[in-house]
Amino acid sequence: MKKTYREILKWGDKHEEQIDEGTLRVLKKKFEMSDADINNKMLTGDTEVKLDKKVSLDEKFINEFISISGEENVKYDDYSRAEHSFGKFYTDLMNLRKEQIKTPPDLVIFPRNDDEIEKIISICKDNNIALTPFAGHSSVTRGVETPKGGVSLDLTKHINKVIEVNEKNTTVRVQTGMYGPAFEDYLNNFGDSYSCGHFPQSFEYSTVGGWVAARSAGQASTGYGKIDDMILAMKIITPSGIIQTKDYPSTAQAWDLNKIFIGSEGTLGVITEVTMKIRKFRPQNTSYASFIFKNFEFAVEAMRTIMQSGIGKPHLFRISDPEETDISFKTMNFDNTLADKFIKTLGYKTGERCLMFVAIEGDKDYAKFVKAKVKIIAKKFGGFFLGGKPTKKWLEQRYSSAYLREPLMDIGIMTDTIETAVTWDNLTQLRNEVIKYLKKRDKTVVMIHISHVYENGANLYITFLSPMAKENEIDDYVNYHKGLVDTIHKNKGSLSHHHGIGRSLAPWMMDEMGKENMALLQAVKNHLDPKGIMNPDGTLGLK
Ligand SMILES: Cc1cc2nc3c(=O)[nH]c(=O)nc-3n(C[C@H](O)[C@H](O)[C@H](O)COP(=O)(O)OP(=O)(O)OC[C@H]3O[C@@H](n4cnc5c(N)ncnc54)[C@H](O)[C@@H]3O)c2cc1C
Repeated sequence: MKKTYREILKWGDKHEEQIDEGTLRVLKKKFEMSDADINNKMLTGDTEVKLDKKVSLDEKFINEFISISGEENVKYDDYSRAEHSFGKFYTDLMNLRKEQIKTPPDLVIFPRNDDEIEKIISICKDNNIALTPFAGHSSVTRGVETPKGGVSLDLTKHINKVIEVNEKNTTVRVQTGMYGPAFEDYLNNFGDSYSCGHFPQSFEYSTVGGWVAARSAGQASTGYGKIDDMILAMKIITPSGIIQTKDYPSTAQAWDLNKIFIGSEGTLGVITEVTMKIRKFRPQNTSYASFIFKNFEFAVEAMRTIMQSGIGKPHLFRISDPEETDISFKTMNFDNTLADKFIKTLGYKTGERCLMFVAIEGDKDYAKFVKAKVKIIAKKFGGFFLGGKPTKKWLEQRYSSAYLREPLMDIGIMTDTIETAVTWDNLTQLRNEVIKYLKKRDKTVVMIHISHVYENGANLYITFLSPMAKENEIDDYVNYHKGLVDTIHKNKGSLSHHHGIGRSLAPWMMDEMGKENMALLQAVKNHLDPKGIMNPDGTLGLK
């Protein structure tokens, strides 16, 4: 393998994605790009990694770590340190493209078991060495950076096995460094066949522990809940000792200790094991539906009514706003086909219409029943039934857009996403204000969808694309992003619905949470991590 910056910044390790013809056509039109612009690749990061910052950790400690985990599991060459310096936030990728790695970890350790993790944490605590848990590094909030150097503790190499599946309880006990596909494959092939039910878009390159630590949501979260709702028990190795909870289906034993660690983003300790709910894997039972609505407001009202009617819940439930709907129609070459012309004659106009995707899993009769009810409610709000195919098609390519980020950045397009949770009564205003803010920038595409839905509100997932400010790419992005977060915050959206806070959203935490709430978080941190070694320097806004 070539040891370049590009290998590190690339999404996954599969392939270099090419931008398809349909998308290229849309890009050229929206951003007024010529063929020369498209062929002119910039900041591709194709050079070999070389770090300026030398390892500053005393050799004595390096040898101690080697004696614990073995020479093959302790790395301090430039490439390993660079590989563990960043996640996938826009500035991470941009810094790698510009070959700027200011604060790599001194050392990367791949522990083989919990005993080793305990020993490593103890040495770090006694000697004030920073320690940052590292998993799929798909963090989009600057969660795995190491501003104080120290140890990056990579759990993916060894801490990655299913320990036990309990078919009677429908639970699985699993080590946290296991990647999504290996986990799901194991469950699909076990006994009566199960599924984890958790499919973030980053599924292929994120881990069970990353999901828990960053409080993630999968694409079927409307039916199965976020990771918060799936965890029964956990084991966490903290600098102050081991915390372990039990897998009761529910308890009233004081407050829920699991919740302290779900979303802790490596600031309290290393989560090494979790017991999770699983469900039967019966894809043949799934019912699919898709609809087109005349506008976003009708689609949202249909969605809200479905969620509040007590008819059962879709698992996958999405609405794309008019700009996202238009771009999918254009890139899929649906625009101006006979079907498109027909839909237009019914009043579903370009620039106003919105797609809705629905999939209901579980028992066959249940799935059919919910679909029938969804159809009745959608119709009341003018939803035109398009059959199940568009949803199935969407599901087939559900992970693919993640691969487009590299080729888009190669041709100078800033592309990023941000997401927020909002109650129904504030959703429209929040969306309008976000669009108003983002569109102040010339030539900007803003696509918004709802993809995680509750009785009381939903998330908004915002994707924006705009030409980069050449030579000033990072500062320009940081300013634009800051204005966007300010807009979300002012208009009653949460700082995050499922990406977590990391360091990128930490500056808003005090204002969002308030002094007393932050003091409580800090007190928990001070108890579990008294020396402040765990993922230090600003993660979650903690000291
Ligand atoms: C293209 C793309 C699509 C995405 N789509 C989604 C999505 O649909 N839904 C969603 O929720 N998120 C999504 N994300 C964000 C990201 O994938 C999630 O936050 C994911 O849960 C991170 O998992 P990871 O294994 O990559 O963790 P990492 O990125 O390695 O770590 C994330 C944070 O958790 C800490 N951590 C990791 N493992 C442990 C552990 N065992 N113990 C303690 N702390 C730990 C790290 O220190 C860090 O602070 C997406 C990201 C990308 C790049």
